[in-house]
Amino acid sequence: MPLTSNSPVTALKGLGPHRTALLAERGITTVGHLLNYLPFRYEDRIHFTKIAELIPGQVATIRAEAGSGTLVRFRGYRNAIFHLRVKDVSGKLAVRFFHGAYLNGKFKPGQPLVLHGKIVADPNRPARIEMTNPEYELLQPGDDGAESAEVGRIVPVYEAIGDISSRMLRRIMFRIVEDFQGEISDPLPQELLQKFGFPPKREALLHVHFPEKNVDVALLNEFRSSAQVRMIFEEFFLYQLGLAIRRQREQQQKGIPMQVRQDKVRDALKQILPFKPTAAQKRVLAEIAADLERATPMNRLLEGDVGSGKTIVALEAATIVIENGYQVALMAPTEILAVQHYLSARRIFAAANYSVELLVSGMKPREKEEALARIASGEANFVTGTHALIEEAVTFARLGLVIIDEQHRFGVLQRKRLAEKGTAPHALVLTATPIPRTLALTLYGDLDLSVIDEMPPGRTPVITQWRAEENLPGVWESVRREIASGRQAYIIYPVVEESKQELKAATAEYERLSKNVFPKLKLGLLHGRMRSEEKDEVMEQFRAGTIQILVATTVVEVGVDVRNATVMVIEHADRFGLAQLHQLRGRIGRGAHKSHCILVAPKNPTDEARARLETLVATSDGFQIAEQDLKLRGPGEFFGTKQHGDVAFHMAHPLRDHKLLDLARAEAFALVEDASRGQQLEKLRAFLGPEWQSKFRLASVG
Ligand code: ADP
Ligand code: MG
Repeated sequence: MPLTSNSPVTALKGLGPHRTALLAERGITTVGHLLNYLPFRYEDRIHFTKIAELIPGQVATIRAEAGSGTLVRFRGYRNAIFHLRVKDVSGKLAVRFFHGAYLNGKFKPGQPLVLHGKIVADPNRPARIEMTNPEYELLQPGDDGAESAEVGRIVPVYEAIGDISSRMLRRIMFRIVEDFQGEISDPLPQELLQKFGFPPKREALLHVHFPEKNVDVALLNEFRSSAQVRMIFEEFFLYQLGLAIRRQREQQQKGIPMQVRQDKVRDALKQILPFKPTAAQKRVLAEIAADLERATPMNRLLEGDVGSGKTIVALEAATIVIENGYQVALMAPTEILAVQHYLSARRIFAAANYSVELLVSGMKPREKEEALARIASGEANFVTGTHALIEEAVTFARLGLVIIDEQHRFGVLQRKRLAEKGTAPHALVLTATPIPRTLALTLYGDLDLSVIDEMPPGRTPVITQWRAEENLPGVWESVRREIASGRQAYIIYPVVEESKQELKAATAEYERLSKNVFPKLKLGLLHGRMRSEEKDEVMEQFRAGTIQILVATTVVEVGVDVRNATVMVIEHADRFGLAQLHQLRGRIGRGAHKSHCILVAPKNPTDEARARLETLVATSDGFQIAEQDLKLRGPGEFFGTKQHGDVAFHMAHPLRDHKLLDLARAEAFALVEDASRGQQLEKLRAFLGPEWQSKFRLASVG
């Protein structure tokens, strides 16, 4: 049977039940699915390096002949190291395979082979070099490698799937590419292929796996070969097409136009404003107000670094809506944050006499019932809460605006459900994850974007330092000094309770610090497993200054605003993500006093952890940090999409490929907006299957 996209993977040699099951777990059951599993890197195995020319640090491919091999047992069979001596015309080389017991006897002396791996200096004799843990390929005597998946060509490198190694995947793909007889339908309209000179889908896909020999490997690793560019464009194009279609649908929806230009709105805004807004705050409010006036629902993302003052802008938007006789709901990801919003809304709206309501799950039944009644009757003007807001029992009389705070904490469905409590209310989404503009377009391409790119006046930048664990006593000393001068401090731990991972835990450290380190001070403990009344109590005492040091987990990460707190010590800082550290650090530097953030981490962390810590020390610009984070982690993890369905692209990378993204977006929107291309659009809908649908859902606020 010739292979086609629909052939089951069981048609391939070498895939038994165990591996078939592994593939199935990833949704890979057909040859077509496998073809969509793309390499993330390429290696040049056309050009062999002579042994005499190898240098430490280099990753090289050599063609050599096996000499003798020895197994060196070292703390048991599993840890045995297999040493193989090889030679070519230019010299000799030692090759070391860790956990290499299974290789014993595999290489007959004189066996021709190809090795690909990293060259390192011999730890015992630094003047000598060796190759460690290479990939290898046995050659037949006289074999020039022309028929091989492994050598004499540029080879693809795949992410292993369970114990299906990159090398195994490469062999499977090689067979598929060799034997593939099927058609692969091309989603890109002919018109676009011609316009951009893209190769057809079938050719592009096969070449992405096994590039033609004349392609430069550097170009491939930058994802700029013509086959790759085409595939990347296609991914963006389909994604943007979905967004364009949905956007069109939304613009046909009837929303609630608000009267913005009237005296009572102007007066109310003047009454509530506690300070002079920054130019950026004024600009984004004008953008929001223009949306609210329209007859289609607003769908706007308000982006701004931690502390840039998004809340007051959201409350101004709420004021417009309330003056028009509608209700506003603000949903926050944690109870602490919801309570904080409730308190500040009450303070700010007192002048305007609005009725402000809080709805969280920890409320007494009686209180809750009364709150629900006021929300249902329309008596409550402004309701803030957690996801308790989207419970079935909650009904609004006239919901005109929903505000979602810190959107990255919510799934899209939760956001949608809140909007469904009204009839096409306006939606404003606030995010402190400073997404580079191009990325915001990719992910939230159907949202309009407003950016607050300016900090309120009177901030003092936070000074960030990285200290080794050994220096903790000195760190505690500086905390003591700050507190002596009237300030407060946060001390952050990655986990709540002691665990096997040997991470210090908030609970135990709270006890220890209270008793041994700061016996004369009042400490408080805050973590996610506490009951909400306990949490509120602790936060209230910290806000009031009765608690001087708050020992906490990342529950303080979002939104908490205590201006007198000027020190934050983060232990095991190497265990936190970059964006998370930035969010945590945003809790200090909120007042006029100089603030310090001290990252405590091992002296020699991993390279990646080091990069994170150094970035944080070097900059406090959220946008720069976000870009760096994206580089270190890739967009999938950056957005936490692993939790909410998969937005990650197969090959496209919004940051690296932003020019292609812009291009694809323009083409997709042009197609949807051009009524004369309806037929093309119909054909394309077939390609917007379930995989894409789940991606679009993620990008929607309803
Ligand atoms: P975030 O964008 O992180 O939600 P907030 O809205 O919580 O930021 O604002 C952070 C702090 O800055 C709050 O205490 C707020 O009252 C204050 N603030 C906001 N805008 C201004 C301004 N224009 N002038 C002075 N202080 C401001
Ligand atoms: Mg906020």
